[in-house]
Amino acid sequence: MGSKKRGHFCKGCGNFLPNEKFSGRGHRKHLCKKCKESGIVISIEPKSDYDRNFHRLSKSVRNCMIVYFEHESFFLFEYQKSRYIIGDELNSEIFVFKGDLEGKFFVSEKLQKNELVMDVLYKKYYETMDNNLTFDYEDLIYDENVEISKKRRQHLEVISSLHHLRGFL
Ligand SMILES: [Zn+2]
Repeated sequence: MGSKKRGHFCKGCGNFLPNEKFSGRGHRKHLCKKCKESGIVISIEPKSDYDRNFHRLSKSVRNCMIVYFEHESFFLFEYQKSRYIIGDELNSEIFVFKGDLEGKFFVSEKLQKNELVMDVLYKKYYETMDNNLTFDYEDLIYDENVEISKKRRQHLEVISSLHHLRGFL
């Protein structure tokens, strides 16, 4: 199983960093200790806007699951009727699956990596783990008794096309 590393986005340097790189106050300001010490000041989106957008996006990212391979894992979810996948514990690009097109996977334009999107995806990612919606690839493919909802079963098509994605990762 993948490690449970928790991270946070720093608006100063633009990196996703583990929690210990943030101090208590820095955390809320989305500035890591280093950037905070360097005196960077970031104008913050009004909290109510952020919260509203967070809530809205959070509601439309659905049917999440995590699939583990021997050396890697993928986070899959549905957003506005499309299926998305992101690898490397959310460190890869966000890819949208287009099964009817030749390349199958495309770097998402609708959902691009930014603070809000990543905050939502991290939340969903940890919820998915907490809810045990994590599966080993082998079980998904070979074990007919593995319990998985109909909606999530649709992700199997994405999983079985993964070789198209390898070149990107
Ligand atoms: Zn920073």
